[in-house]
Amino acid sequence: GTVMEVKYLDANEWKYHGEGNRSLVVSHVQHCQVLRFLKFPNERSQPNQALEEAPRRLRNIVDFSKHVMKLLLGDTFVQPGEVIQLPLDFVRQLAMKIQPERPGSRCNKVMDAFSGYALCLPDLTKFQTCHRIEKRPPLCIEIKPKCGFIPFSTHITKDVKHRVCRYCMHQHLKVANGKWKRISKYCPLDLFSGNKQRMYIALKSLLQEPQNNLKIFKNGELIFGCKDDQDCLMDLNELANHLKAYFFPANGVVSGPQCTRTVISELIHVITIALVSNINNCKPGDMKRIIVSEERSHCEASHFCKEVLRNGIHVVENSGLPRGCVLSRILQVQMLDMMDIDGIYPLYLRVQQHIEEFPTDRTRLHLDGPYNESFYESLSDSHSQDDETVDYAAQKIHQYRVATTAKDCSVMIALSPCPLEEWPEPSPIIQTSRACFVYSVSILDLDPKPYENIAHQYKLDGKIINFYLQNTRAKK
Ligand code: ATP
Ligand code: ZN
Ligand code: MG
Ligand code: MG
Repeated sequence: GTVMEVKYLDANEWKYHGEGNRSLVVSHVQHCQVLRFLKFPNERSQPNQALEEAPRRLRNIVDFSKHVMKLLLGDTFVQPGEVIQLPLDFVRQLAMKIQPERPGSRCNKVMDAFSGYALCLPDLTKFQTCHRIEKRPPLCIEIKPKCGFIPFSTHITKDVKHRVCRYCMHQHLKVANGKWKRISKYCPLDLFSGNKQRMYIALKSLLQEPQNNLKIFKNGELIFGCKDDQDCLMDLNELANHLKAYFFPANGVVSGPQCTRTVISELIHVITIALVSNINNCKPGDMKRIIVSEERSHCEASHFCKEVLRNGIHVVENSGLPRGCVLSRILQVQMLDMMDIDGIYPLYLRVQQHIEEFPTDRTRLHLDGPYNESFYESLSDSHSQDDETVDYAAQKIHQYRVATTAKDCSVMIALSPCPLEEWPEPSPIIQTSRACFVYSVSILDLDPKPYENIAHQYKLDGKIINFYLQNTRAKK
């Protein structure tokens, strides 16, 4: 690890930025940098072990990003960052400073203010390439799209999994558990469809109920989104107020419901372009689309699909994602999960039984990393059929875990307004009738999910399905 430059190490210059289940992020008030800390469970019993593990866990995160996800998702989308060591008094001060900003529902875990290790990453919400006279700060849209296909594994026994997507089913349990107040109408299959109408509905639904799937930042500050169900910024009129300077550049005084509608649909349009553009390689001939077969790309719970069925709307437009766009990259990695948890769980039990007998094989099979080139190679299909070996099982488990990471990552779209006359030529731009932005797209939160999680995933899957069936049957 690198030791960070001393001049940045004043806790007052860093502020709370956000957190997920496994890490907490602070951003520098001025520089384009964030620090990402691990979180530990609150129980006092185990911090010592967790402490010793911190630098290894962080290194695994960087390696997994660098040697696995970056290769699968594409060079330009992934910024692995680096492990750094920080002075403990700086970290302790920081932890105290940010504590009051944390949402209550996340406080069952504490920030790692003990090991002195963290990840240093570029602040993706602050990207800015147009330095000139531009007064409007950069915008950033973060989307956590979740799993974009219906599982196709022959190991699945519950028929509902072939009809309703995981996200839509999980919503019912999350609302019942009190994690969120209302069921979201967002369906990932609509977002990943590549069909403009379906994508519009998906993004509109995210704006109506952002939960933890949509955040919008202006100049690095959260202006729209939820910390938890108690603490949400989700007033569309307010959002439109923030955004109208970007979409009505000549005249910022417009207001009212018409203004909100126009600004929001313009925003959705810009996000859609960013999600389906092939930034890296803009050759127009390369517009081959990734088509997911019909039955895997429609979810019965999707409100779009319900409308289509009810009104007999004919979907004219081309479906499928252009090859190379960020969504198709993510979807392809998600689809490395070919067996579904139903097929993976028995293989997990096979591996568990094996390593009980031969504990040192845990390392040989790369179950906890290291996530180096040879782990990456172990992903490719060397065993095409189940030959009853533990190696076959491990290979399938690796593919499943990589896919799981892609089902949980976030896409960051950074937009910097830029009049066309000042377009810094090689940078990609998004141009609409009302606005022009230089933009970048990144993928973040590419941590490896622990091998042991498979048992938990299996139980959770059963719970989600049973609850969904119960809950929807009860309502019919
Ligand atoms: P999850 O529960 O989704 O797995 P996590 O605990 O792994 O989340 P992250 O998603 O990596 O944590 O980070 C939490 C939040 O911090 C993100 O949703 C994002 O808003 C912000 N964030 C993370 N990395 C960056 C970055 N490089 N630049 C700007 N913001 C970031
Ligand atoms: Zn769905
Ligand atoms: Mg994560
Ligand atoms: Mg996250």
